[in-house]
Amino acid sequence: MAQLDVREKLAILADAAKYDASCSSSGTSKRTSVGGKGIGSTEGSGICHAYAPDGRCISLLKILLTNSCIFDCHYCINRKSSNVRRARFTAREVVDLTLSFYRRNYIEGLFLSSGIIGSSNYTMEQIVEVARSLREDHDFRGYIHLKTIPDADPELVHQAGLYADRVSINVELPTTGGLKRLAPEKDIGRIEGAMADTKTAIIDTRDARKKYRSAPKFAPAGQSTQMIVGADAATDSDIVGKAASLYGRFGLRRVYYSAFSPIPEASSVLPLKRPPLMREHRLYQSDWLMRFYDYSPAEVASAADAATGMLPLDIDPKLAWALKFRDRFPVDINRAPREMLLRVPGLGTKAVGAILSSRRWRRLRLDDVARLTVSVTKIRPFIVAEDWRPVMLSDRADLRPLVAPKIEQMELFG
Ligand code: SF4
Repeated sequence: MAQLDVREKLAILADAAKYDASCSSSGTSKRTSVGGKGIGSTEGSGICHAYAPDGRCISLLKILLTNSCIFDCHYCINRKSSNVRRARFTAREVVDLTLSFYRRNYIEGLFLSSGIIGSSNYTMEQIVEVARSLREDHDFRGYIHLKTIPDADPELVHQAGLYADRVSINVELPTTGGLKRLAPEKDIGRIEGAMADTKTAIIDTRDARKKYRSAPKFAPAGQSTQMIVGADAATDSDIVGKAASLYGRFGLRRVYYSAFSPIPEASSVLPLKRPPLMREHRLYQSDWLMRFYDYSPAEVASAADAATGMLPLDIDPKLAWALKFRDRFPVDINRAPREMLLRVPGLGTKAVGAILSSRRWRRLRLDDVARLTVSVTKIRPFIVAEDWRPVMLSDRADLRPLVAPKIEQMELFG
């Protein structure tokens, strides 16, 4: 590997990390630096979360320790057979960069991942050393998200959780067949085994801290994972099912979906085109329905096309579900239970909360609901209010175009 200075390494290793979408720092607990102790804190120090237009968090220093790798995952630009320029940071260099960026208010924390060099254990040791040094040598109280390495010793993964706010390991692909084909050196059993160990450690330390306040924290912002969308033949129904199973079995805080991006000199087993970004967006919406709107995975999957297993791209999955199961509507906003109000297209959790509390005092009219939503046109066919009842509206053949968002041509110089 040619001798590179830190700036050149940063250019290479920050670029190499951009394919990982799971960098959100949501859900972390507060590490305060009030009182002049330590430097940095997740909140309260004037640093805001910033998101790129595609929703990715950009306020972290997001880098790889190295983009060299002994594995050859087909979808990965850093795979062994890839002809990219390689670079490698030392643990000390990552620590210095994090501290200097933090002091300049560029970042609120560190997202550190790595290709595998030498062995999984050696790589994991280097990652842990970065976090250890930041926390112990420099009293760093900013956010740290560490990617753990498949196959690393569970003890090393445990150490990572003691220093990091969040740990994650990527399941990579929604199906075992897809993983075997595109990442043959990875093993779903070992990946899920590491997730199970992390879940146990999170629960154990949470219990211990209820009894002893001095018990150490373990990944207080939980664990997350990422799935690549569109690199294999998995359908949206497969992906929704896999995500639900991961949430249920491992108590994940988040599953991230990353639309596959074609890479230079791609392997011939990969598709030539990236999937529409809207597909990634629809999967995030379906994830939201399961986590906050009490939809079961089977209900979300039933919004997909029965023949293809794919969610529609032109309308959101909640609207797709409502159009498919019209017999459940209209919903009386003055009487329906919370779970049915949550199924009305256009009604969010806040609006449903407001409806539930206001209707204790009076019966709600269409105008009252209109004030709580962005578009009453979308809602009208699906509700009954004090002064409103749709007339055969939910049976209309043209209901879909009536409630689907209008496609607008963006102005070039608007
Ligand atoms: S192990 Fe990670 S870095 Fe290495 S080739 Fe696979 S996905 Fe890329």
